Amino acid sequence: MTFADLLRVRPGTRPDLDSIDPRGTPGFDGDKDAAGDRLDVLRDELTDFQERLWAEKRQGLLVVLQALDAGGKDGLISKVVTAFNPQGTRVTSFGVPTEEELRHDFLWRIHAATPGRGRVGVFNRSQYEDVLVVRVNELVPREAWEPRYAQINAFEAGLAQNGTRIVKFYLHISRAEQKERFEQRLANPEKHWKWSSGDLEARAKWDDYLAAYTDALERCSTDVAPWYVIPADRKWYRDLAVAEILAETARDMNPQWPEAEEDLSGITIPD
Ligand code: AMP
Ligand code: MG
Repeated sequence: MTFADLLRVRPGTRPDLDSIDPRGTPGFDGDKDAAGDRLDVLRDELTDFQERLWAEKRQGLLVVLQALDAGGKDGLISKVVTAFNPQGTRVTSFGVPTEEELRHDFLWRIHAATPGRGRVGVFNRSQYEDVLVVRVNELVPREAWEPRYAQINAFEAGLAQNGTRIVKFYLHISRAEQKERFEQRLANPEKHWKWSSGDLEARAKWDDYLAAYTDALERCSTDVAPWYVIPADRKWYRDLAVAEILAETARDMNPQWPEAEEDLSGITIPD
């Protein structure tokens, strides 16, 4: 079984997050060093893929990252996403919507950030916040968020039909691991900027968040835009598993070097 097969939320099934061990390492029985060696190989593969994607200009890749606070999105971006050339890659972080964004439908700002052909787009938070934080904190009534699952699925299907490959990762950490990471942040002045007063509020609603995540994973894991649940207490496994799935996706997309526009065989370069 591949990492994608092991970690994908099969469309139509309801994942039981309580039964997925955040410290688990499904599909890998090596240690941290072995994972690091493998990650180096995968990074090279992803670099080569992105160059071909950029040259081919026929498909785009959208990577969606979601997690609870301190779930490791930033670390994953610096360890794995950096395999892609910045020319051709854009990471977009979605925070509290601006006034202007709130005057539009929730997908407006999302659509504007999707990758065009030849590009990789990475979402640090995403359209899913509108069925997660928005639902848990009742920022809009149920009548407003309930239809969003279907709206998201239609939106993602449309992107896919227009040449965008979509993969979505939920980084699954335990309550104990979040506590430890929060404590490390508080103990290190260089990490204080990451602390937000809302972090404890969200932690207090842990069960509500997991319920909202479970619904999003169940309702929005589709053939064209699958969700993967990544056990993420061990950072090295998180990075490895995401890189493996990205590499599998890259092999499947298999972008091709374009042909030269003219016959180059007779060209000589003047001195
Ligand atoms: P951070 O990722 O730590 O910079 O925090 C961004 C904050 O923006 C998080 O608390 C998110 O829950 C919040 N956020 C992101 N998208 C939305 C949204 N659509 N509505 C309300 N809050 C959001
Ligand atoms: Mg934060």
